[in-house]
Amino acid sequence: MSAWRDRYLADASDWRSAGLERRRRVVRPVTSTQVEADGKLVTAFASNDYLGLSRHPSLIEAIAEGARHFGAGAGASHLISGHHEVHEVLEHEIARFAGKPAALHFMNGYVANLALMTALAGKGDVIYSDAFNHASIVDGARLSQAEINIYPHADVQALETLLKASAARQKLVVTDAVFSMDGDVAPLRELLALCEQYDALLIVDDAHGLGVWGPEGRGSLQALGLQSERIVYMGTLGKSAGLSGAFVAAEELIIDRLIQRARPYVFSTAGSPALAHATLTALDLIRSADAARGRLVIYRERLQSASSGWRPYRLLTSSTPIQPLVIGENTATVRIADALLQEGLWVPAIRPPTVPKGSARLRITLSAAHTLEDIERLVGALSRVILV
Ligand SMILES: *Cc1c(COP(=O)(O)O)cnc(C)c1O
Repeated sequence: MSAWRDRYLADASDWRSAGLERRRRVVRPVTSTQVEADGKLVTAFASNDYLGLSRHPSLIEAIAEGARHFGAGAGASHLISGHHEVHEVLEHEIARFAGKPAALHFMNGYVANLALMTALAGKGDVIYSDAFNHASIVDGARLSQAEINIYPHADVQALETLLKASAARQKLVVTDAVFSMDGDVAPLRELLALCEQYDALLIVDDAHGLGVWGPEGRGSLQALGLQSERIVYMGTLGKSAGLSGAFVAAEELIIDRLIQRARPYVFSTAGSPALAHATLTALDLIRSADAARGRLVIYRERLQSASSGWRPYRLLTSSTPIQPLVIGENTATVRIADALLQEGLWVPAIRPPTVPKGSARLRITLSAAHTLEDIERLVGALSRVILV
C-alpha cells in the first residue's frame, strides 16, 4: 500500500523516457572557468559568472571581512530585528547604482520576483507577461491572483492590442531585459512608450544585463538611457556580481509597498550581513570592469563568426554573453553535450520545459574569465563534434 510510491515511480519513468531527466554534476571550482565536474577537469561554458567575479580575491576577502565585522547571519527578518546597518547602506548604494530613488535587497531573484508580482498586483489587475519570461515571473504572476495576459515574445504590437482592449483597474507589463535562454533583448524603449500611453507600470528583470551592459555595467535601462517613474527595476546579484542575492530599485512609494506587503520579504530571514557587505565590493568591481566587458564582446564576435561552420544548427543572434546553439531534438542535444564533455568542455544541454519543445539547445555562456584560447578550443571542438 503505497500510492505515492507507485505514482512517483511512474512519473519518474515517464520523465526519463521523454529525455527530461536532469542530473546534477558535483563541482569543485579550480579557477573561474575551470572546474572539476564529477572529478573530471573541464573548462566550463556553463555559468552566469559573466565578469568572473565569483572568485575575485577582493570579493572573497570582503565576505570574510563582512562576517568578522557584522556577523555571519542576520538573526531575524528585516521587519523584526534583522535589518542591519550594512543592509541599509547597501540599499542606498544599490539605488545610486541603478539611478533610482530607493532600493530593496532580496535573498535571490526568484523571491524578488514573487515579492514584486504579489505586492504590486492583485485581483482585478492585469499582468502582461512576455511569453519567454523567467519562471520566477510566471510563478509570481500566478501567485498574485491578477489576470495574466501572455503576449507573444517581444511582440510590441500584440501587447498594444491587449492593452487597448483592457478596462482593468491597473496594468503591469513585465519582461526580462535579456532573455535567459535566447540571449536576446526586450524592446524596452517601445515597451516603456506603451506603458506611458496606457498608464501601465513596467517591471524589468535585468538578471542578465546587470554588470554586462550600460556605462559601468549599470544594466539594460542605463544602456538605453531609459528613465521613468513607472519603471520598476529588478536585478540579481548571483550572476555578474558573482555572489547571490537580488534587488528591486524603484520609487519610494513602490519600495515601501514591498516592505509593507511583500510576503516573501516580510516572512523571511534577512540575508547575511557578510554578504551585504561583500555586495558593496561587488558593485565597485562591476563599475570598474570595462576591460572584462570588452573581452566578452571579442569572445562573442569570435563565436558568431565561427557559427556558419555549425550548420544546420543555428547559433542565435545574441549581443549578450548568452550564446545558444539550437539543436532541436533532446537526444541529439545531449549527445553533442556529452561529446564536448569528453573533450573537456562543459556546455549545458537545455531542454523543455525550460525551452519550447523542439528547441533543445546548447546554452553556451561566456565569461570574461575565459581566455581566447578557451574560445578557440570550444570553436574547434564544436565543429568536430557536430559533424559526427
Ligand atoms: C536567474 C534569474 C532569476 C532568478 O534569480 P536568482 O537570484 O538566481 O534566484 C530571475 N530572473 C531571471 C531572468 C533570471 O535569469
